Amino acid sequence: MDTDHKKTLASAKSEHKEIMHRLYHWKQLGKDRYHEIGVANIHQAVFENTDCISCHNCCNSSPPLITPSDIKRLSAHLGISKKAFIRKYILEDFNGEQSFNKVPCHFLHTNGTCNVYELRPDACRRFPHTDEEDYFKRPKLNTANTQVCPAAYKIYKRLESIISH
Ligand code: SF4
Ligand code: SF4
Repeated sequence: MDTDHKKTLASAKSEHKEIMHRLYHWKQLGKDRYHEIGVANIHQAVFENTDCISCHNCCNSSPPLITPSDIKRLSAHLGISKKAFIRKYILEDFNGEQSFNKVPCHFLHTNGTCNVYELRPDACRRFPHTDEEDYFKRPKLNTANTQVCPAAYKIYKRLESIISH
């Protein structure tokens, strides 16, 4: 992760409690407010100025949840059976939720790119979920994501300046 991203995440860490309180307070905001504020546009603007390859902190530190269709797609791509894929790459928790079994991710290339980018799991494609209209309904997830993802923190900061005024 480059220095700018590290600095951004250090700020997020120092504001962790405040971020959590605010995001829980925003839980009362609904989908209409999400669209009125233009959160998806803010998401897009922030990501246009974010270099994910020089960051790759999500791939480095947070194993994504994996769905049966991710397993089907990726095992076919790798030319192995679904069983073999699960044995090699998947961890199942006590709730039956499946995720990759290690970080950094098996598929993270040393240059910061994803070796299976076009076929990556749905959770990777959607992370950090800031362009989803249920955004305000997920304060716990959003708080956690600001601590991992510099872009999620920057989106939160833009919202803070809009909603607080
Ligand atoms: S599959 Fe690709 S995008 Fe998903 S965590 Fe692994 S390296 Fe990152
Ligand atoms: S999505 Fe967030 S954590 Fe992942 S590489 Fe991009 S900026 Fe970094």
